[in-house]
Amino acid sequence: MELIDTHCHLTFDDLACDIDGVLARSAAAGVTEWITVGTDPQENRKAIEFAERFENMYAAVGIHPHDAKIVTGEMLAELKKIAQHKKVAAIGETGLDYHYDFSPRQQQKEVFAEHLKLAGELSLPVIIHSREAFDETMGILNEQRSDIERVVFHCFSGSPEQAKVVLDKGFYISYTGVVTFKNARIKQEAARIVPLDKLMLETDSPYMSPEPMRKQKVNEPAFMIHTAKFLAELKQMDLEDFAQAVTATSKDFFALTT
Ligand SMILES: [Zn+2]
Ligand SMILES: [Zn+2]
Repeated sequence: MELIDTHCHLTFDDLACDIDGVLARSAAAGVTEWITVGTDPQENRKAIEFAERFENMYAAVGIHPHDAKIVTGEMLAELKKIAQHKKVAAIGETGLDYHYDFSPRQQQKEVFAEHLKLAGELSLPVIIHSREAFDETMGILNEQRSDIERVVFHCFSGSPEQAKVVLDKGFYISYTGVVTFKNARIKQEAARIVPLDKLMLETDSPYMSPEPMRKQKVNEPAFMIHTAKFLAELKQMDLEDFAQAVTATSKDFFALTT
C-alpha cells in the first residue's frame, strides 16, 4: 500500500517533536508520502526545511485565512520566492474562514486572491481552506480562475450539491477523518458522488483524528489508513484498489515525481 497524506502539518510542535517516529509509524501503516502544509511565514520556512530533509515529503506554502490580517507586501514577496523551491508542490492553505473570523473578511478575500494570482503565475496547484464560506470561496475562484489549473477543497465538509458545484468546475475534493464521524451522514453522501480521479485523502494532522482513533488528541499520518478504509467501504471497493486510485490522483494533482 502506498497512500499520500496530501495535507498535514508535520512542522507543528505536536508532530515535529517526534518526526522520525511519526514518519516511521506512517510508513508502516502504508502512508508513505506527505505534503506538509505551511500556514504562516515561519511554518512555511519549516515546511521547506522538512521537505528538504525527507525524500518522500513535499511542502505547500501559504498564509492561512486566520492570519490574513498580518499579511504584508513583504510577506507575499517572500512567499513568491520560496514557492519556487523544487519541493514546493502547492500554494496553500489559503481561502476563507467565516467560522472563526480571526481576520476581517475583506482582508481574507484579498489575501486569498493574492494566493490565487501567485499560483497562476507559478503554475502550482492550490489548496483551499473554506469554512462556512462556500459561495464566497467559489465566487473568488470564478473571478481568478483563468490561469489556475488545479484546485482542491481540503477537509471538504460540503453537501452533495456543493460537491457537484466543485466537481463541475473540474476542482478536486479532499477528505479528512471528519468523514468517518458518526454524525457525518451528509459528508458521506457527498463523498459517494466524488469520482476517484477527483478524490484525495489527508489527515490535517495534528487535528481531526478519524474514527476509531477519535479520542487521540494528536492525529498523525498513520491514522489516515482508517479514513482510507472507511471511504473504500463506502465506495464498495477493495482497499488496495481504492488506495491505488487516490494515490494516482494525488500524484497527478501535485505533479509528484516519486
Ligand atoms: Zn484548513
Ligand atoms: Zn490544515
